[in-house]
Amino acid sequence: MDILVQLIDLLGEKNVLTGSETQKYATDWTGKFSSSPIAVARPGNTQEVSAVVKIAAAHQVPVVPIAGNTGLTGGTQSDGALLISVERLNNIREIRPHAKTAIVEAGVILANLHDAVGEHDLIFPLTFGARGSAMIGGNLATNAGGSNVLRYGNTRTLCLGLEVVLPSGEILDVMTELHKDNSGYDLRDLFIGSEGTLGIITAAVVKLWPKPAAYGTAMVAMSELSPALELLNQLQKATGGAVEAFEFMPDHFMELHEKLFPQARPAFDRIHPVNILVEVGSTAPRDTIPDENGETPITALLETTLGGMIEKGDILDAAIAQNETQRLEMWERREAAAELAFHRKPFVNTDVSVPLESVELFLTKVKLRLNELDPMAGALCVSHLGDGNIHFTVWPSEQSAADEDQIVEEIERIVTDIGGSFSAEHGIGTTKRDSMRRRKNPAALATMKAIKAAIDPQGIMNPGKVLP
Ligand code: FAD
Repeated sequence: MDILVQLIDLLGEKNVLTGSETQKYATDWTGKFSSSPIAVARPGNTQEVSAVVKIAAAHQVPVVPIAGNTGLTGGTQSDGALLISVERLNNIREIRPHAKTAIVEAGVILANLHDAVGEHDLIFPLTFGARGSAMIGGNLATNAGGSNVLRYGNTRTLCLGLEVVLPSGEILDVMTELHKDNSGYDLRDLFIGSEGTLGIITAAVVKLWPKPAAYGTAMVAMSELSPALELLNQLQKATGGAVEAFEFMPDHFMELHEKLFPQARPAFDRIHPVNILVEVGSTAPRDTIPDENGETPITALLETTLGGMIEKGDILDAAIAQNETQRLEMWERREAAAELAFHRKPFVNTDVSVPLESVELFLTKVKLRLNELDPMAGALCVSHLGDGNIHFTVWPSEQSAADEDQIVEEIERIVTDIGGSFSAEHGIGTTKRDSMRRRKNPAALATMKAIKAAIDPQGIMNPGKVLP
């Protein structure tokens, strides 16, 4: 094909993959979505991305950007399209410790950025289980969330500037380092979260934070969810807003984790109904210098707050990590969530957000409705409780009267009724287009379609994603 010849001329044979070489790009992490792209192009810099897009546009071949391929909504499905991998755009162009910014290319793996800025005693706070594969371009394109949104915000909040190749091949340079810039429409925020439907992000200016010098991390057990917000609020008050993460795992999560990871040390000597991983972190010397027993003031604050709630009877048990190994054990359990959710097939995966006071109400309503639809269904819940984001996975039984769409629709109806969103942090991809059609405000949808038509009149940029 002409287009392949032109791409090979531009990038060289080893950067234009076809046939079985495309397999690792054409199947997603969950194994649920696979497709047949015409080829995978691996440009090495922004100019090459631009040239690849121009070639595809001239041949009217759709293009699908791909970064780490860990997205959970089928956003990189690419039948008949050219996949454009940003994996070779993997330079950290600059780290500026004083301004606390970094200039990074889209193919930088999130964990590599963590390591690089860590050398300057800084953090890029976005973190979640897939950080060893997910890339900055994919994180920006999906506006990823993760475990630290409570303190630092989602990827959108962590970004100052962007470089984007538009569907025409033109390079849009809004690589500003400014914290304030009201010069017209905010194009950066338009491309963040657009899941590759408006352009290909090639680089970004991101914000960095001082690395906490001490963490206090604990597993907390409760008999019910209702006192959890009180705990969060007390911890925020006691630590001056230093709660980094507040993650909920119910009893069935803990049971399944013990079953699938029998070598892991259990959190408690028995399974409790509600389990919360809480982490506070501080950079201030007053909080971080250990006393003669080796305890830091930030851990002491955590201990005092938990102790008060144990005395009141709101908390059943609590275990504070005594060292980094114990802290990592707590995080490994939480970050195994995706493996737990997808170990059984078929699965129906949801990613919703509700107002903070409504998490328990949502779970009660969903369980009741699921029991009517498919009493033999299995389910797994895990939640970034501090920001109201719930991942509720259903494993329908063979006798299920409801198909996947119906289960999704019912969960989405409950979410909407209590003022939530059917998509919290994973985006829309192909899996939630029906939800967009059903639930998104019609004027908002029409505006999005008008923007898409204006920026991508040929409709070649990641077609069939996001918009119904
Ligand atoms: P990809 O999967 O490659 O792409 C995702 C989407 O972005 C696709 O639509 C793609 O076309 C588009 N895209 C990719 N690169 C670009 C680019 N350069 N320009 C424009 N568009 C582009 N997500 C969370 O938010 N929070 C979590 O806690 C979380 N935990 C996870 C845990 C596990 C174990 C796994 C497997 C996934 C998890 N995810 C989570 C989902 C996923 O990791 C994120 O959505 C991540 O941001 C995707 O990055 P990626 O590089 O893998 O992108």
